[in-house]
Amino acid sequence: MEIIHVSAECYPVAKAGGLGDVVGALPKYQNKLGHIAKVVMPMYRTKFLYEHSFDVVHKGAFGMANYWFEYTVIKEANNILGFDLYLIDINNLLDREKVYGYDDDVERFVAFQIAVVDWISKWHHHPDIVHVHDHQAALVPFMMQNCFAYRHLSSIKTILTIHNAQYQGWMDWGKSQYIPDWDKYKWGLLEWDHTINALACGIKCAAKVNTVSHGYLEELRYNANGLESLFEYERGKCFGILNGIDTDVWNPETDHYLEAKYGLDNFKEQKQANKKELCVRFNLDETKPLIIFIGRLVGEKAADLLPQVIGDSIYYMEGKMNFLVLGSGEKYIEDQLSHLHNHLFGYYNPQIGYNEQLSHRMYAGADFLLMPSRVEPCGLNQMYSLRYGTIPIVRRTGGLQDTVKDFGEEGGFGICFNVDSVGDICNAIHRSVELYAEHKKMHHIIKQIMQIDHSWEKSAEIYINLYNS
Ligand code: ADP
Repeated sequence: MEIIHVSAECYPVAKAGGLGDVVGALPKYQNKLGHIAKVVMPMYRTKFLYEHSFDVVHKGAFGMANYWFEYTVIKEANNILGFDLYLIDINNLLDREKVYGYDDDVERFVAFQIAVVDWISKWHHHPDIVHVHDHQAALVPFMMQNCFAYRHLSSIKTILTIHNAQYQGWMDWGKSQYIPDWDKYKWGLLEWDHTINALACGIKCAAKVNTVSHGYLEELRYNANGLESLFEYERGKCFGILNGIDTDVWNPETDHYLEAKYGLDNFKEQKQANKKELCVRFNLDETKPLIIFIGRLVGEKAADLLPQVIGDSIYYMEGKMNFLVLGSGEKYIEDQLSHLHNHLFGYYNPQIGYNEQLSHRMYAGADFLLMPSRVEPCGLNQMYSLRYGTIPIVRRTGGLQDTVKDFGEEGGFGICFNVDSVGDICNAIHRSVELYAEHKKMHHIIKQIMQIDHSWEKSAEIYINLYNS
């Protein structure tokens, strides 16, 4: 089967969150199963672009409203990712340093999608599946079915994977002129709540839709940022498929980012060596439990609660633990977290920004990972932390609920709580401090979680079954 994944992110080319990790791994595992999976994404100005060789495979052009855009498709020359990687270059529009965050993001991603469809329309054969990810690619099925120039693609089956339904790619109706000449009787497919809604359009037009965990799919029926009734209506074609993790990249035995690599036989000393390195570097105490947070500093992740959670925990539990935070996002949260450092020097350290290497070192050196998320479609951090022997403290929601079981339950191994309140989070942290003092139990849990299998093999196969269906 030939599958082409269309995505705004793909690790290690460009990543802003879990979407990048998934699109960087799933195609590789699909290829291992004997299929031909490829990825097409925008050509940003990232390090990857300058450090690898590319061949030009196609040049084309399209009109978008009053503008005429030329695009070039380049292909990574050496298949170093384990799949064919294609980048779409549209001058002045896509070739920027960041993936998102520009005023013209709507124009950028609509142009990207038109270029993808235009390019596929020039292939001498049809792929079996066009697999689109999130709202930045969700108009592709509509374009393939309803734009007059591309209707010969309408028999190709499309799948939409929703990694995050909070962001939906809204556009006012004035921007409908961006979409290449389309069948106006089909306006209802673009429409949701008086605007064009790319994600809603993808849900209506794709042959199948999936979210990245079962728990999240259930939640979307009553909490989907306005799309609840659509998920209810389309439930027959919606599925939950849990993400996997790329065990080639996320393996403490081979991870080249780590100070001290480790496996099941030597994790005790080696995890401590990684912890020591972090504690020396960030002025923390290696004898205390080290609790980390890694992620986007936004309300979805309940990052706005972190300053009070950290302050209260250290104050009321008399500094019995240390916190290390890595993330970026809302400015007011970044500022509050930075400011708190002055008061909690020696107990807490915030690292504002994006740092792939540090994230690996933190998963390896920490004792606990905190994820108090309000919304978590799947969550990869908890799966990485399990593999690195770091016990997750999670709120029971979405994918966190599907992957972490409280150590108080039969066969459990994590710390779970229900409510996204400062009190409940602090209570969970209190339990982690108590658990840390029980060396034998800690040792047993670490050994247990390092062996949990969240590799992609199983999920990659489930995607193939979905394509076949
Ligand atoms: P989301 O996609 O909602 O942000 P996920 O848990 O699915 O959350 O994926 C987050 C990914 O991004 C993980 O690989 C995590 O390690 C990484 N990540 C998030 N923030 C940072 C950061 N500031 N520095 C390095 N890696 C980060």
